Amino acid sequence: STTSTLFTLENTYARDLEGMYVPFTGTHASNPEVLVVNTALAEELGLDADALHTPEAAEILSGSVPPEGATTIAMAYAGHQFGGYQPLLGDGRAMLLGELVDTDGNRRDLHLKGSGRTRFSRGGDGRAAIGPMLREYLISEAMHALGIPTTRALAVTATGEQVQRDTAEPGAVLARVASSHIRVGTFEFALRQGDPLQPLADYTIARHYPELVDADDRYLRFFEAVVDRQASLVAQWMAVGFIHGVLNTDNTTISGETIDYGPCAFMDAYDPATVFSSIDVQGRYAYTNQPPVIGWNLARFAESLIPLVAKQLGGDSEVGDTDGAITALTDILAAFLDRHDARLAEHFRAKIGVAVDDQDLVDDLQTVMREHRPDFTGTFRALAEELRGNSRPLDDLIPRDAIAPWLSRWRAALADTESATADAMDRVNPIYIPRNHLVDIALRAATAGDLEKFQMLLSVVTRPFDADPALGAYAQPAPDEFGQGFQTF
Ligand code: AMP
Ligand code: MG
Ligand code: MG
Repeated sequence: STTSTLFTLENTYARDLEGMYVPFTGTHASNPEVLVVNTALAEELGLDADALHTPEAAEILSGSVPPEGATTIAMAYAGHQFGGYQPLLGDGRAMLLGELVDTDGNRRDLHLKGSGRTRFSRGGDGRAAIGPMLREYLISEAMHALGIPTTRALAVTATGEQVQRDTAEPGAVLARVASSHIRVGTFEFALRQGDPLQPLADYTIARHYPELVDADDRYLRFFEAVVDRQASLVAQWMAVGFIHGVLNTDNTTISGETIDYGPCAFMDAYDPATVFSSIDVQGRYAYTNQPPVIGWNLARFAESLIPLVAKQLGGDSEVGDTDGAITALTDILAAFLDRHDARLAEHFRAKIGVAVDDQDLVDDLQTVMREHRPDFTGTFRALAEELRGNSRPLDDLIPRDAIAPWLSRWRAALADTESATADAMDRVNPIYIPRNHLVDIALRAATAGDLEKFQMLLSVVTRPFDADPALGAYAQPAPDEFGQGFQTF
C-alpha cells in the first residue's frame, strides 16, 4: 500500500503504557477534503507537503482510514474541570495516529481532533465544526510565531458531513502536532489506576526531561522542571494578553506547551478581569487569574506524584515517606508564583524597553492602562512610536495628560537610548495578533466556503512583529460596537 509513504509513525506511548488508552481507528467520513496544509510544519516533520493535499491523505487526516501499520488510539485521562474532579475524560473526539520523529530528532505526536465518537465521548458527538478547528489552527500558529510553546496545526480536513451545533455546520478534523499529549489529567488518571503511574512518569521523564532519567531524586526534579516550564509559559501568555479560557487540569501539559484552543482569545482593551468564555461565570480563568490557576493545577500534579516521591524518599519501607514527599513537593510548588512573577516582570521590562529592575514603572503604567482601557497590544507599539517622535498612536489610546507624568519618568529611565530602545521594543511587542473581530469575520467566511480571509489573516499573524503599512487594518482595535462582552464560546 502507498499510505505508508505519507507518514512513518512510531507508537511508543501505546507500546509502553498499557492501560492508558483504548484502541481506536476513527470514523468514516463521507467526502473528506484537505482544506489547509501547514507547509513549513510539514517540512519540519520531514513530510511531503504536496502529498498532504491528495485524496489518500484526506482519508488519513479525516480519521477515515488509519495509516497502514499504525497503532491508533484514544488516550485516557482524568481532570479537574472548573475545580471539580472528573475521574474519566479522555479523547472523546480525538485520536492519536502515532509519533513522528522530526528533522531535529524530536518525537512529536500526530493527533486528530474531530475524528468521531470514542469510548470516552459520554454525551458528545465526537465531531468538530470547521470554524473552531480553523480557529485553533490560526491561534496556535500565531502563538508559535510569537515564540510561545504550543501545539501546532498541520492540516484541517473537511469531512463532507454536517455537524449539529446551534445550527448545522460543516464538519472538519484538525491534524494537530504536539511534543506530546500528556497532561496533568493523564497523571491524575494514572494515580487512580495505580499500576500505570510509575511507567507513565518514567516514560514522560525520558521523553520530555531526559536529563533527569538517571537522577536519584528524579520524580521531585521532574516536578520542579514542570513547575518551571509552566511558570515561563503562563508568563509568556500574560505578556501578550493571551487568555486561554479553560485551564482545567486536562488542558495543562507536562511538556509546557499551550494546548486546547477552545474559548481562548487575545485581550483587546486592557482589563485584568477579562473573560471570553460564557460558561466561566465566576471568572475562574480570567486573564489575571491564570498564574494562580496554573499553580492550582500544579498542586493536582504534585498530588499525583506523591506515591512515587514517597517511595523514593522512603528507602526500604513499603509505602515510603509520604509526609516527606508532601513537604518536598509543597516546597517546590511554593516557588511557582515567584518564578512566574520574576519572568513576567522581565517580559514587561522588555516591553517598555527598560533594562533596570524598576517594577514601579511597570506597575504604574498598568494602573494608567486599567483606568483608560487602551488596546493592550497597540499600547506597547504606540510607546515605541512615541520614542520615535510620533505621538499620534498613543494619543489615539490614552489621554495625554493621563500618561504624561509616566512618560517623563519612563524617558528619564531610558536616558539617551531612545531610538535603539524603540527598535528593541518592536522586536518583543507584536503589532499583529489574531484580533477577535478579524478572527470572527474570517471564520464566518470560511464556514460559508471562502477561505481567502482566513489565509490572509493567517499570513499576517504568523509574522507578528514586522509592521507593514499596507496591513494597517490588522493592527486597529476592534470597532466599538464589537468590543464589549465579546464571547468566544
Ligand atoms: P475540553 O473542554 O475541550 O478540554 O474537553 C473536555 C472533554 O470533553 C474531553 O474529554 C473531550 O474529549 C470531550 N469533548 C469535547 N467535545 C466533545 C465532542 N464534541 N464529543 C465528544 N467528546 C467531546
Ligand atoms: Mg481539552
Ligand atoms: Mg477542547
